[in-house]
This record gives sequence, C-alpha cells and structure tokens, in this order.
Amino acid sequence: MSRFINSRLGQLEEYVPGEQPRDMQYIKLNTNEFPYPPAPAVLERINTDEVAALRLYSDPTVRTLREKIAAHYQTSPENVFVGNGSDEVLNFAFLVFGTDGVRFADITYGFYPVFAALYDLPVAIAPLRQDFTVDPADYIGCGQMVVLASPNAPTGLCLQKADVIKILESNPDHVVVIDEAYVDFGAESMVDLTKTHENLLVVSTFSKSRALAGARVGFGIGDAALIRDLNRIKNTTNPYNINRLSMAAAEAAMDSQSYYDEKIRELKSTREHTKESLREMGFFVTDSLANFLFAAHETIGGQALYEALKNRGILVRHFSAPRIDGFVRITIGTPQQMEILLRQIKEILENGG
Ligand code: PMP
Repeated sequence: MSRFINSRLGQLEEYVPGEQPRDMQYIKLNTNEFPYPPAPAVLERINTDEVAALRLYSDPTVRTLREKIAAHYQTSPENVFVGNGSDEVLNFAFLVFGTDGVRFADITYGFYPVFAALYDLPVAIAPLRQDFTVDPADYIGCGQMVVLASPNAPTGLCLQKADVIKILESNPDHVVVIDEAYVDFGAESMVDLTKTHENLLVVSTFSKSRALAGARVGFGIGDAALIRDLNRIKNTTNPYNINRLSMAAAEAAMDSQSYYDEKIRELKSTREHTKESLREMGFFVTDSLANFLFAAHETIGGQALYEALKNRGILVRHFSAPRIDGFVRITIGTPQQMEILLRQIKEILENGG
C-alpha cells in the first residue's frame, strides 16, 4: 500500500474470487462457469470486421443489446441497464440506493459486504434459518435497501414470489435487489414484478447460463427511473462500460436461446444425477436450483475434501465462514467431469481422506 492512499480505503477488505491457478490443468468446478462453450453465433459475430471496428468507441447507450434483453424479458429497453458484469450493476446499486443501510443474509454472495464497506453503508445481517432458507420476516418493513440472491449462493436455495411481494410492499421507500445470477437453471424469476413494483431491481448476468463469464456482461431490470439512476453513475464513471466485442457476443447470445435452452436442460439433468450420487455416498446436499451443489459429508470436513480433490486435479470452492465450513460448493460441469469427480470423491472417502 502506498502512503498516498485515502486512509479509509486502505482498510477495505477486498473480495477474493475463486482461484484461477496456472500450475496445471484442473477440472475447474470452483467459480460456477458454464461447462459448455458460448453459442456458435457468438464465435461468428466476433469476426475480423468486429475486431477492425475496435478503432471506434462502443455504443454508450448499449441500445441493441438492451432491446434484445427487453424483448426476451417482455419489458422495454428503458427498463434495462447493462453493466460490466453483474458485479458492476450491484456495485452501482449499493452506491445509489444504499444510503439508509443495506440488509442481506449471513450466508450469501461475498461481494455484498465488500460493496457495503466500500461506500461505508450501515449493514444489517439477517442470519438464514438453520436449513439455510430466508426468513422473510427479517426483511419485512426493515426500512433499508434489501439484497437477496435467488437462487442464493452458495446454497442454491430460492425465494418464494409471495415473500418477495411482501418484502417489496412493506419497504415502499427502499429498493429491493433480487440477484438472479443463477435463475436460468430452474428457479422462478421475479422480473414480472418490476412492472408493478417501482422499488424492485432484478440483477442478472451473461456469466452463468450464457457462457460469457469472461466477456463481463450483466444487467439490471427495473422501473425506468431506477434505470436512469444507474445510468447516471455509469455516465459519471465509465460511459463506455461495455466493450464492442462483449456487446457483440452478448447480442449473439440473446439470438441463440434454443442453443442455451438445450445446454441448460443437459446441465440440470447432470445436477440432479450428481446430487443423488452424492447423497448415496452420505453427503447432505441442499436442493440447489443453481448450476452448483452445496454439499457436506459426515466424515470428512470441507477444507479436507477441497484439498484432497485439488491434489487429484479437481477444483471446488470451500468457504471458511462459520456455519458453512463443513461444506464444499461444486459447480456442475459436463457429465464426464462429474463422473470423474464422483469417482475421486468415492476414493477419497474409502481412503479416509
Ligand atoms: N451474483 C452472484 C450471486 C454471483 O455468484 C456472482 C458470480 N460470482 C455474481 C453476482 C457476479 O457475476 P458477474 O459479475 O460475472 O456477472
């Protein structure tokens, strides 16, 4: 750290992403990426013409992509904000709407506390129930910005629409952010509620179900006034926040819904098979509707399982936080990758670690 840094910022805890090691080829099941390549149309769109056009700035209004997202979600382009990953959308939402404080769960996406600290916002942590479900009562009438992921990370568990409506209607003066990064893997989206609830911002991403994590494209859907607020921050920080290649890739992905639908069907079937197999081996596994499973075993700890798998060339994610340190989070890969995972776990359990 230099002696020039603002002293408050010098004390911030940084978000620690899942490891991206380069020492060897791992089966990478640790950052919830899609196991299949982007749709063929994405590769066709990133052609030499598009690369030549990098000479020019990208469209700061992200018009075409917003139109495609709006058409897919049956809303209007003025209800869509596009960010550099959904992390940027969340970042702006904390900055713009979090002044009265932010309320989120004890076990959820690890970036929420980081954004709250960055903007020095009061934080209220609402512990999940014993079974990792959300108690809606913790958020009803709380008088703060609410941030809930559905499916939640790392549990994969979802919110009920009736509960979201209660939370929205009891906090009319605060924004409720529903982070739907993983919604396409089987959960119910809350996007339709954005038409009736001016305080709802649904955040989603191209990183998971559209296989574009490296392109960094996310989006928020909400009332046009909320979207204008987010644009105000974008236009005072980085008006060209989506680069040309990523915009083209995301547009082509929006035109390839049937490709993604098919791959998502495959992934869901792999998830259910993997879940059953883990349960047969004595794991407790949550009923995740995301592209990952959250699993704990009665005889081997989370850290020990993570290390044993890493030694065998498979990366999963372990969190050392209280309540979940016995678990590992396993991204759903291809059927072949999951067969290797299951075989290795079986051997690890047989060898006692
Ligand atoms: N929300 C949740 C719940 C996540 O797990 C992630 C992925 N780390 C994100 C948002 C951010 O994803 P991205 O910035 O790649 O869109």
